[in-house]
Amino acid sequence: MDTGSLLLILSLALLAGLYVARPFFSDTPAEKENEQTVEEFARQETEFLRLLEEKDRILYELQELETDHYLGKVMPEDYPHLRDQLKTSAAAVLQNIEEFDKKILDGQKKSQKPEEHPLQPRIKEDDEIEEMIAARRRLRDEKSAGFCPHCGKVIRKSDVYCPACGSKVA
Ligand SMILES: [Zn+2]
Repeated sequence: MDTGSLLLILSLALLAGLYVARPFFSDTPAEKENEQTVEEFARQETEFLRLLEEKDRILYELQELETDHYLGKVMPEDYPHLRDQLKTSAAAVLQNIEEFDKKILDGQKKSQKPEEHPLQPRIKEDDEIEEMIAARRRLRDEKSAGFCPHCGKVIRKSDVYCPACGSKVA
């Protein structure tokens, strides 16, 4: 047997020994807990990002609905109902985001006992959503040059061709 294979056997034996001994000096309860916290944190972060995306998606849909309404693509009797539906979804997502914020804040404070506060009536929510819609509308109006005369989609001031149908618009 040459030195090379001896060294190989030795290092394999060492690795095996380390592997067997591993549970004795790692994975202490504290470490395990820490790992779980990190995992939980990552999971929460993903969920939080998902909620933010969801909120964005619903606001975008509301915007599209308004455009369709403006173009007469939505039945006037359907419009308030569709808008209310989207606003209800938005309210639910906002509620979740708020709860998330609170949970994360509570975690940072590490408060032992849960605070006892009665459920506050959420009368502001409707105004909040209306304000978000208005903010997006303002943002869009700043950027948009109006609607494509061919397909009716929103076009921006910088567009020479309609991004939706490709017609020359400038
Ligand atoms: Zn077009």
